[in-house]
Amino acid sequence: MSATTAAPPLGTPIVQPIHHSAAYAFDTLADARAVFAQRAGGYTYARTGNPNVAALEAEIARREGGAGAVAASSGQAAVALALLTLTGPARDAHAVVSSRLYGGSVDLLTDTLADTGLEVSFADPRDPREWEDAVREGTRVFFLESIANPLTELPELEAIAQIAHRHGAAVVVDNTVATPHLYTPGEHGADFVVHSATKYLAGHGGPLGGLLVATGSFDPTNDPARWPWLTEPRHRWGGRSAVETYGAERAVLGVARCKYLNDLGPCLGATIAHEILQGMATLGVRVERQSATAESLAATLAAHPAVERVHHPASATGRQRELLRHGGYRGAGGVFSVDLAGTPAQVEDVVDSLRLIRLAANIGDVRTLVAHPASMTHCRLTPEQFRASGITERTLRFTVGLEDEAELTADLFRALSVIAEPAPGWDTAAGRGTAVAAP
Ligand SMILES: *Cc1c(COP(=O)(O)O)cnc(C)c1O
Repeated sequence: MSATTAAPPLGTPIVQPIHHSAAYAFDTLADARAVFAQRAGGYTYARTGNPNVAALEAEIARREGGAGAVAASSGQAAVALALLTLTGPARDAHAVVSSRLYGGSVDLLTDTLADTGLEVSFADPRDPREWEDAVREGTRVFFLESIANPLTELPELEAIAQIAHRHGAAVVVDNTVATPHLYTPGEHGADFVVHSATKYLAGHGGPLGGLLVATGSFDPTNDPARWPWLTEPRHRWGGRSAVETYGAERAVLGVARCKYLNDLGPCLGATIAHEILQGMATLGVRVERQSATAESLAATLAAHPAVERVHHPASATGRQRELLRHGGYRGAGGVFSVDLAGTPAQVEDVVDSLRLIRLAANIGDVRTLVAHPASMTHCRLTPEQFRASGITERTLRFTVGLEDEAELTADLFRALSVIAEPAPGWDTAAGRGTAVAAP
């Protein structure tokens, strides 16, 4: 007999196996009872937990320097979980939110959550006084983006977070565009960070996913009467409070997972969690290359006669430039926008003339994409919200992928020739921002 037959095989998988199981078995009823009653840790059913999902949650919490995380089926679901947990049960719930928000977040706040009684005020993320003026007694949450989508404004996060905390509100930051590689909101006053993992974290334009991270700074016991659904005993938690059940810094995550994720069901599947985690392994190299290409393309386009204005943190001046340099940002990101110098019909022709750059409402893909926010991601804003957003009919948003920059420049210049051609002598083929006007 060979000596090898009895020994277990040596070697363990480098990549975590996919645990495709809806339910989890227990050896004894006593074990099952303890886990279902949340007296012992463990998995019951994959709607509220799965080993691959848990690995993704641990990884985003580590990258954001947080206390823990909850994964959801999309970025929308993660934002909804955060806002429901922080405002849902309050009778007088009010949120102050950035006037420069992703369109889906605006729909959620002003339609679906407004139906549940949430009241919302909009404030400019560059002007902390607007946030201070918008605060009311019922304000439970401030919500803003660390790099705004699509015009890439950087917020005065530290000043805004101080205002929120002075008034007992929690600060939620959507860190989708920046990613934790470029910015960690928890170091600048955010209590919670949300991500559309669909974008840079997954990185390849495939799966949808969302993440809610607690940075660990929010403690509802500092003002228990303001957060009774977290601090008072509830039947749901076996007659204890959420704080007693999950601890002060994880109470919001516990309620988000075991109440809202469990009851509403927008959970992430094991295969998708696995795919997002694989994407996150290359996050840094992708984001650095995409940021560098975006910075270079934005600088090139800023000098193009068909372009009136570019929006990218690296092209900004004044206070925005100061925030990029000294506000904790480690790069400017792969999203930039341009306001074209043509008529709306010419803008449409430019979009339709792009070949390499595809027209699609996504960011963070390895492929470069263009969007027309007024017709696409932000098409449901009211005229007033549209004016406050800074977007115009002539604004195009680009999300830079990993293609060769010279090919992107050539595609852009060919399409922009609908409006204007650069002066003779421009070196469009060289890329890397070397295009300069002839003397
Ligand atoms: C895409 C996006 C979302 C929503 O995420 P989904 O995964 O598409 O549901 C939220 N915030 C920002 C900034 C986004 O770009």
